[in-house]
Amino acid sequence: MSNPPQAGSPLQYVKGIGPKRAAALEQIGIHSVQELLHYFPFDYLDRSSIVKIHDLRKHVDAEKPVTVIGEVFRQELRRSRRSNRLVFFLTLKDETGSVTCVFFQGVQWYKNAFEQGELLAVSAYPDFDKLGRIQFTHPEFDRLKGAEEEDEPDWGKLFNTGAIIPKYSSSADLTNVGLDSRGFRRVIRNALKSHLNSVEEILPEEIRSRCGLLPLGAALDQIHFPLHGENLAAARKRLKFDELFFLQLMLAYRKRRIGQEQKGITYSIESSLARTLVERLPFDLTKAQRRVVNEIAGDMKLSKPMNRLLQGDVGSGKTIVALLAMLVAIDNGYQVAFMAPTEILAEQHFRTLDGYLKDLPVTVRLLIGGQKKKLREDILGDIHNGRANIVVGTHALIEENVTFGKLGFVVIDEQHRFGVLQRATLREKGFNPDVLVMTATPIPRTLSLTVYGDLDVSVIDEMPANRKPIKTGLRTEADKGKVYQFVREEVARGRQVYIVFPLIDESEKVDLKAATVEFEQLRSSTFPEYQLGLLHGRMKSEEKDEIMARFKAGEIQILVSTTVIEVGIDVPNAAIMIIENAERFGLSQLHQLRGRVGRGADQSYCILIANYGWFDEHHKGLESGEVKKEKLNARTRLETMVQTADGFKIAEVDLRLRGPGEFFGVRQSGIPEFRIANILEDGELIVLARTEAFHLVDGDPQLRSVAHQSLRRHFEQRYKDAFALGSVG
Ligand code: ADP
Ligand code: MG
Repeated sequence: MSNPPQAGSPLQYVKGIGPKRAAALEQIGIHSVQELLHYFPFDYLDRSSIVKIHDLRKHVDAEKPVTVIGEVFRQELRRSRRSNRLVFFLTLKDETGSVTCVFFQGVQWYKNAFEQGELLAVSAYPDFDKLGRIQFTHPEFDRLKGAEEEDEPDWGKLFNTGAIIPKYSSSADLTNVGLDSRGFRRVIRNALKSHLNSVEEILPEEIRSRCGLLPLGAALDQIHFPLHGENLAAARKRLKFDELFFLQLMLAYRKRRIGQEQKGITYSIESSLARTLVERLPFDLTKAQRRVVNEIAGDMKLSKPMNRLLQGDVGSGKTIVALLAMLVAIDNGYQVAFMAPTEILAEQHFRTLDGYLKDLPVTVRLLIGGQKKKLREDILGDIHNGRANIVVGTHALIEENVTFGKLGFVVIDEQHRFGVLQRATLREKGFNPDVLVMTATPIPRTLSLTVYGDLDVSVIDEMPANRKPIKTGLRTEADKGKVYQFVREEVARGRQVYIVFPLIDESEKVDLKAATVEFEQLRSSTFPEYQLGLLHGRMKSEEKDEIMARFKAGEIQILVSTTVIEVGIDVPNAAIMIIENAERFGLSQLHQLRGRVGRGADQSYCILIANYGWFDEHHKGLESGEVKKEKLNARTRLETMVQTADGFKIAEVDLRLRGPGEFFGVRQSGIPEFRIANILEDGELIVLARTEAFHLVDGDPQLRSVAHQSLRRHFEQRYKDAFALGSVG
């Protein structure tokens, strides 16, 4: 083995890094030169990204912040006549003109922050001052060169010869020790000078040449200080590949472990229960449903434990497919656990299964929090002694005191709300049970290769034939009278209606109050002639049950609700959905909500009521650029809803708007956070990295070959923790 690479040496070996800076860097997880070199720029300035000050007017409606480069030319502290607060004005000039930046907050800091003649790059959404002149409010800024600095390049000049300037993100703590973007540029340049030659290549030569990847050293050099765009692209490709490759390597091991080292249950897939159920269904399964049933059955009859993801848009009929598989397990003498993310959904599933199984000898039990002690003990007893064939529940299922007699099959609904560990805990309550994960969030294939890369995937890509497309309309507050009139007409024709209010986070007291107040208003003055019900997540389980039961039975015509109805609720006669303050909902959330209607044979409607002004009222703390962006996003979300009902398209737009982290709720989902790879844009590279990783693990599972030693060392070091999770599906 070669000795540890010097690039792993402590940070203080880098010129410009003393104890203080080293300590600040440690705080953000940078402990070695190697890690410093992996602190990539978050963006670059190049000539194409810069606007001349004179041309700013052309960019007032820009959808992205605009950047100018200029010298500090005038600085002024003035008291605003209106608010009597101090305001700081910073004027920059380039060869075409000047522009003023305004700072209302942190004035005492800003007023001393800049030197006359200093070269800055500033970025913001341009806006106007009172006299109609363009200005920047609280721009981001990056110092390019101080008035009298020596040992650093003159980026201003270099820039004119086509140089590309890296921008590094920083924080107050880092800035305090001189590590703002410019500070990073300097220390990283020094680190490259002294340590680049000792950077060790980790990818096997064979993979590198097959995939056309730069050597690691060259990639690190060019990611920071690219000579030109092509080099930058090549560097990015190489470094993205590394991230994706190591993730896929981990997934390959995880999958291999579950598949080959653990022996699961071999089911006989002849099931009279399943056959009986299919015969009694009032409809025929779609072709897609039948295909997926066969894929699942194919897994079940193997001794290798199933670990499969079932994807299908809302309403595509996943539940019945899962149920058929459950019945196979039950006919083989095993129990089934069915875990849902919320109580409402668990209850709904419980009722649905109970309905399907009415005349079959199958016992279904529901286990959720807050059940009476006696009942709970009775249920736990049935789970333990095996009398309960199917146990539907929330995460109450994975509590310690829940023991199954003979758990052989696990279904997990809406999985991205559960963490990998929760899945594993449930799995461990059985003896390597088969696991079926269901999600109503259709995601692009390359994305599922990353997020669910250790699962096999089945997709129900066809809707039941009897569905009429839902008509979706976009209205404003001003149209509400007409909308309510429409509701009245539809209720008079016997239809039922959902009116949804934003209570995105059930702990938001203000929203809850608003929903309750609106409810009273709707009940007493808007629709006094009808029965209304209110449903929200803070209600007791029995109350929710009662309201839902009355809605299902048609006693309640208009159900006023928060997003608790987002998933699973199935009332075919409810054909109209009104979504209030629709601008506040996420796109996938709107899609899920809309999926609650359009379940019967009638024409269904979804009416989105937008109130964009809400953003101005409620985001006073935010900078105007962000409010503008939020509004634009909201508009895109609502227009997408009107334009399409295709879950895949909607998920793609949503992913783009929110980014994968938000989309999946990073911490819960175990979705990796990439530094440089982008799951949305790097589809091809994901496939390439996956192919290489799986190929490598097939050919040399222990990574014993000489060519794989460097890789092995790196993988073991860097992914130790993740590696320990290897058996978690
Ligand atoms: P998902 O869970 O995928 O959102 P569900 O399983 O809840 O969908 O099914 C939605 C509705 O469609 C249910 O009322 C179900 O009974 C019905 N359904 C399922 N499969 C079919 C089919 N092949 N034809 C007609 N209706 C179906
Ligand atoms: Mg369902």
